[in-house]
Amino acid sequence: MNLAGLMLCLFRYFEHTRKPLIYALIFYLGNLLSNYYWGVYMLVMNDYPNVSSMFAYFGWNLAFVMLVPMLFSLRKEQGIRSISPLAFIPVPVNIAQLILYLQYGGYFNNIWQVLWTTVAACLALDSLIYYYKNRKKGVGFPYISAIFFVFITIEYAEWTSTCFDWPSELLYPYNYLNLLSNVCYILIPWAFTKVYGKEDKVLGEAPHTRLMNLFRPLYTTVVIICCIGGYLLAIWMRKTLDAGIVERGDADPYTIIAVMLFVVSIIIVSFTIMIVLVVNSAQKTYEGEELKRAKSFAEKSNATKSEFLTNMYHEIRTPINAVPGMNAMIFRESLSARDDLPRERESIKRAFSDICGYSGNIDSAGKNLLSIINDILDFSKIEAGKLEIVNAEYQLSSVLNDVSNMITFKAKDKGLEFDVEADRSLPGVLCGDEIRVRQIITNLLNNAVKYTERGRVVLSVTEKRDYGSTEDNLTSLIISVRDTGIGIKDEDKDRLFKKFERMDLEKNSSVEGTGLGLAITGSLIEMMGGTINVVSRYGQGSTFTAVIPQKIVSYEPIGDFREKFANSIDTMKAKKEPFHAKDAIILVVDDTQMNLAVVKGLLKNTKINIDTAKSGEEAIDLAKLNHYDIIFMDQRMPEMDGTTAMRHIKKEAVGVNSETPFICLTADAISGAREKYISEGFNDYLTKPINSVELENMLETWLPKEKINYADAKVSEQGGQALKTTEEAFDPKLIDRKTGLIYCGQDEEFYKQILSEYLYESKEKSEAMDRCYEEKNWDDYGIYVHSLKSTSKMIGAMELSEIALRLEKAAKSGDADAIEREHDKMRSMYMDVTAMIAQCVKPDNLIV
Ligand code: ADP
Repeated sequence: MNLAGLMLCLFRYFEHTRKPLIYALIFYLGNLLSNYYWGVYMLVMNDYPNVSSMFAYFGWNLAFVMLVPMLFSLRKEQGIRSISPLAFIPVPVNIAQLILYLQYGGYFNNIWQVLWTTVAACLALDSLIYYYKNRKKGVGFPYISAIFFVFITIEYAEWTSTCFDWPSELLYPYNYLNLLSNVCYILIPWAFTKVYGKEDKVLGEAPHTRLMNLFRPLYTTVVIICCIGGYLLAIWMRKTLDAGIVERGDADPYTIIAVMLFVVSIIIVSFTIMIVLVVNSAQKTYEGEELKRAKSFAEKSNATKSEFLTNMYHEIRTPINAVPGMNAMIFRESLSARDDLPRERESIKRAFSDICGYSGNIDSAGKNLLSIINDILDFSKIEAGKLEIVNAEYQLSSVLNDVSNMITFKAKDKGLEFDVEADRSLPGVLCGDEIRVRQIITNLLNNAVKYTERGRVVLSVTEKRDYGSTEDNLTSLIISVRDTGIGIKDEDKDRLFKKFERMDLEKNSSVEGTGLGLAITGSLIEMMGGTINVVSRYGQGSTFTAVIPQKIVSYEPIGDFREKFANSIDTMKAKKEPFHAKDAIILVVDDTQMNLAVVKGLLKNTKINIDTAKSGEEAIDLAKLNHYDIIFMDQRMPEMDGTTAMRHIKKEAVGVNSETPFICLTADAISGAREKYISEGFNDYLTKPINSVELENMLETWLPKEKINYADAKVSEQGGQALKTTEEAFDPKLIDRKTGLIYCGQDEEFYKQILSEYLYESKEKSEAMDRCYEEKNWDDYGIYVHSLKSTSKMIGAMELSEIALRLEKAAKSGDADAIEREHDKMRSMYMDVTAMIAQCVKPDNLIV
């Protein structure tokens, strides 16, 4: 029975290589070591072997120990520590049994047996109690524990039964109990099948299942041969000994039979262990191969995914490119159409104003969409291991300048202060991935502004040189972004740099975001060998500090960056000068008609002459006939790409365009692209979607200076007078720009529209108010001041709005004195306000 149980258990192990099965196998093997020689010896000699109790009990003692780890490893689900007090019932029972049985087998064996079997019985009983309590919750019946509990109980009963005298062999319970405990040997593998059978077989259809199938008959045959062989050998040995020995002397010569049988059982045990090891190693090899296969599959699909995304990126950006471009044209045309219409066509004018408003919304949604696409692409590249850090020389102050410029306006729009603190001694020229450094700082700054409602955002940059390092031109840039925003809870800090994680969603529900920014930032910093950490107090603000190792190219210090930056902001505030380039001619090459229309539309105000070509071949033909001041060349075109077309044109024998600057138009905004195109022969590089300011800057840089005319453009745009920005023109006492912007959803463009509406109706409104005032028509006067009250509030003219409110109340109650007291003050303030607005929007309705 023991052998049959062992074989069945081993076959279960072939199907489910689980830990409890290993313990069960050792349990069987231990039993086998004692049972086999004991049983066969009894069969052959009809007597107990004459061996020491240590030797007799060796196998059983080993088997009992195994019960504990096996039952323990089955307790995963119910937890290791919680044990029901009822589970300790076997303890007193077993102690009582120990006292009874102690006379047999010696102290050591008995205490050892009772110790381990009691712990095992308690564990098995506890599993049964756990099942009983939780069976309604779907906990499965613990077949294995149940069988072992029964087995241990039978063993105890067996041992106890030997302590008493029984009237006859027939009534001696030992024999029946022994039979029952042997039945348990067969039931144990069945219990394992009950528990594991429901689960998928671990090996499943693995190729080495064939090996397992081969082992089954092989193992069965070897074990049967060993058992029968041992038995026949024992008979032969007994016969030989009986014939040869007449006098026994002191030593029992038959002990040799017991030893021989023990050796047979050792052979069976070793063979079993060998087979388990082979199965284990086959399993590991199989898993290793599976893992390799899965890895290579994952790598292949990742590569395909990344390639797909890069292509998609280009495909998505091409149509998106058309959206902001066309939108900018819609905005421009609608604005000028509205302004050109006569005043009587008010409803059409309003329609154009609405179109400008919608166009503003398209613009901000488009920018948002692009930044999300860029984030997703970057992240998938990082995940696919395709994103590379491309190191090149760069000017640190240029990076700081650009990121600070970008954030200054965003912070101002939100009413936040922005400050930059850069160490004067920072080295001027570094070597690293400039685009990624920019991206890291921009992400941190954008977050700081996004998650701060009031207060300030500070960018501070210092460095730490490792003088002990072998590379002495190495430094660590320490970039820290501090804000006085909403802060981050301690429990959220661990999740910050994980993808798609957004914190504090109750507070942040209105803040747009994907939860990718910090994941990208963290990964980029890691790829550069740097670190990032965050210190934050919930409700008070956060400081993100990134440490990025960079090489120093020039030790020349950047100096007082803060001052330089303040100066550059002042120069930027001066409006970008419009210019005309009537005498210049450019060629724009793009296979998408829409993109050609966008460039044409964006450059309409410059009055520049534009030829367009829809393919490289067409561009070559045009370039043979005309000289161009600049050629804008799309990089990706079917049949002939931009680089090839450019090389053809430059090589042309006639050479009309051999000196012409070529600007590459591409959707490829990844790092290293600039260097790549310039090394291919382009003079400069413009990313799509094309931004009108960048496009005009490009013309200013590359057109011959004599073909650019600033004076003409100024005259035609403003009738000789340049417009100021609202920031420059407004006295905050009269018009609080910040409040106005809040009413306009922080949308500067929309704010300007409202201001021009305000200006547009001011002349008519003030004339009407004066008329009513003269005629003492307080009813109508009340209607006009009511309207003035709300429109003034909307633009941020708070004091004027309050005076209008008082006048409205006075008009309602017919209080002529109060009206007379404030009317002139209101009129003069209204004039000042409109005069101020007229400096920023077209001055064709100024009241006099
Ligand atoms: P998101 O697109 O949501 O801004 P990020 O990965 O950039 O994604 O940031 C993840 C989350 O970390 C944000 O949703 C926000 O909850 C939190 N977080 C990031 N920066 C700050 C900050 N400066 N102050 C407070 N919370 C921040």
